[in-house]
Amino acid sequence: MTYKGNLNKELKRYFGFDKFKGDQEAIIRNLLDGNDTFVLMPTGGGKSLCYQLPSLIMEGTAIVVSPLIALMKNQVDVVNGLSEESGVAHYLNSSLNKAALQQVVDDVHSGRTKLLYVAPESLNKEDNIEFFRSMKISFYAIDEAHCISEWGHDFRPEYRNIRPTISKIGSAPVIALTATATDKVRTDIKKSLGITDAREFRSSFNRPNLYYEVRQKTKDIDRQIIKFIKHNAGKSGIVYCISRKKVEELAAVLQANEIKAAPYHAGLDSVTRSQTQDDFLMERIDVIVATIAFGMGIDKPDVRFVIHYDIPKSLEGYYQETGRAGRDGGEGLCIAFYAYQDLQKLEKFMEGKPVAEQDIGRQLLQETAAYAESSVCRRKLLLHYFGEEYKEDNCGNCDNCLHPKERREGKEALLIVLKSVVAMKEPFQQAYITDFVKGRATDEIVSHKHDRLEEFGSGEDEDPKIWNAVIRQALIAGYLDKEVENYGALRITAEGRKFIKNPVSFMIVEDNDFNENYDEEGGDRTGAALDPELYVMLKDLRKKVAKKMGLPGYVIFQDVSLEQMATMYPVTIEELQNIQGVGIGKAKRYGREFCELIKRHCEENEIERPEELRVRTVAKKSILKVKIIQSIDRKIPLDDIASTQGLDFDELLDEIEAIVYSGTKLNIDYFLDDVMDADHIDEIYEYFRESETDDIETALEELGDDSTETDIRLVRIKFMSEMGN
Ligand code: ADP
Ligand code: MG
Repeated sequence: MTYKGNLNKELKRYFGFDKFKGDQEAIIRNLLDGNDTFVLMPTGGGKSLCYQLPSLIMEGTAIVVSPLIALMKNQVDVVNGLSEESGVAHYLNSSLNKAALQQVVDDVHSGRTKLLYVAPESLNKEDNIEFFRSMKISFYAIDEAHCISEWGHDFRPEYRNIRPTISKIGSAPVIALTATATDKVRTDIKKSLGITDAREFRSSFNRPNLYYEVRQKTKDIDRQIIKFIKHNAGKSGIVYCISRKKVEELAAVLQANEIKAAPYHAGLDSVTRSQTQDDFLMERIDVIVATIAFGMGIDKPDVRFVIHYDIPKSLEGYYQETGRAGRDGGEGLCIAFYAYQDLQKLEKFMEGKPVAEQDIGRQLLQETAAYAESSVCRRKLLLHYFGEEYKEDNCGNCDNCLHPKERREGKEALLIVLKSVVAMKEPFQQAYITDFVKGRATDEIVSHKHDRLEEFGSGEDEDPKIWNAVIRQALIAGYLDKEVENYGALRITAEGRKFIKNPVSFMIVEDNDFNENYDEEGGDRTGAALDPELYVMLKDLRKKVAKKMGLPGYVIFQDVSLEQMATMYPVTIEELQNIQGVGIGKAKRYGREFCELIKRHCEENEIERPEELRVRTVAKKSILKVKIIQSIDRKIPLDDIASTQGLDFDELLDEIEAIVYSGTKLNIDYFLDDVMDADHIDEIYEYFRESETDDIETALEELGDDSTETDIRLVRIKFMSEMGN
């Protein structure tokens, strides 16, 4: 049975497109001819049309299994928009009420409905099966088919039951579609769906317009991301984080830095989520900070960048997520931040899971690490992962190709590895092999008696760091092969054996060095060093200003503030406010001269300022500070404020001091007058007026026994507030 109609005409009629993309026509013809079909096409390739168009042409209704409700709705709207009639497409899931359900049943039975989208849960549900059996089914389409395999990145156990259910409902051709599938996943899909004879259509996974880069994740990451986004101002982008908490935090930081950003994760209610999606599509916001819950089914063609704040759990996930950039073929910048510590954290998360699942998870993580650490062309690595060979030597559009590392001869090293693999007789994992060539007699190696082999330690004289790079590059070159089913154990290929007999040149690049420690908590975010010359000049200026005002220097700016200025080089009043201890009050009152000095200094010495000075962090503390300020304005006794905010009195004073020292005026007279007598207050106040330092210890010594530390601190707050601000 061969379809004789003019498909181009149908394409134009329903979709308004002039020609098919890629393999679309061949795929559709194969399905129309009643054959099982397997479609591997990258995101944005146009998979939906491969089942939508034939369903419109064929008799009966196509059942489309799709994993996400949001995705279904969207597609149903699209298809219904194509036709003048209503009810051409419907979806069936647990969210439908009785009336809506009846409408679906009626439309299907009347023959009006050509496409019925169902969630896998709904497909398998006993109650629905009767209904499905009453339908005339044109074919089954399984979208996002990688969900079938636990080796994919979105495993959905319900997808496993699709075949048994189809058998119950009644047979019809099956078309499975996915954007990501390694060999292993592909085999899984076909087996599980019982379509091992399906004709396969594979498009290339190369996305030439996507630029890939991996950066070392450092404390500086927020600043780097802000800088990057500001550099790409006005463009749409997505930042992926692993945890919801991080999503919230980073979105807040971006917002604080005047970036139109919003968080998105599965913990947010559905109204907020769809609002955010809308805002993104309509470009009311530029950047979505999201967990991987975001993106499936998002059809925004002009996403210009995708940033991975955390390393993804698998390369398939990475490919899928980066794939959302540049769907229109335009610019798509994909930046991933990598820290080995993140990987270890992810491994730890898996600990509670079943062992088999852990093994799979760990292996997928190792693939990601290999990708990140390698200096080989990223495109080559990715495509190799998907079983595709990229033949070019330099893709010209990834960090490794734009900044190539020097290559060195790796012939001898490869020989050592290959001979070792042969000597061990059976396949072992990479770590085992590297231990073996390095001559490390681990328990495992000893128990296999491999330490007695002649090849044991044959690579002792080499740089121990080289072995992972050699093995990975040997895999890409096809000298070694990975047994996915056997936990990624490595075996030698025919090519490899040939190499041993007749070695040829094998140029390798060493891996990137990602050894810098990344510690999220604490630490100095600037990474820059203090400029001693400027620091001295700033101190002099402070002295001058203080003298003119008749105030001690610390009232103007504290030392830490000057130190930061000499590191960050703020040159505007606005920038100055990001310096620790400088609020708007101080910046306006004293800032100008300081900024001018810094500016002059930068120009004279041709200093490049850290560009993204305006990185504001959102301190959780700031909420507390606001509450304290409000309470003091309402003249609430300080001890009451402390207990309401769950602070002890000293902690409250710490907070108040921080507020006052950064330039905000606070009037605590109402409290002081209550707890201290006027003379005593005056005495301490006068002391600070004369003193060279605001140090408490010194004050305690000078003022003698009458004044407690708390008294002194309270009056100092009054003094700083009145004189400094
Ligand atoms: P996939 O599911 O493969 O990621 P979609 O089916 O969502 O991709 O299609 C991606 C985009 O390509 C959609 O905007 C779709 O309208 C468009 N498209 C599909 N086929 C064609 C075609 N033949 N000509 C022009 N645009 C097409
Ligand atoms: Mg799709």
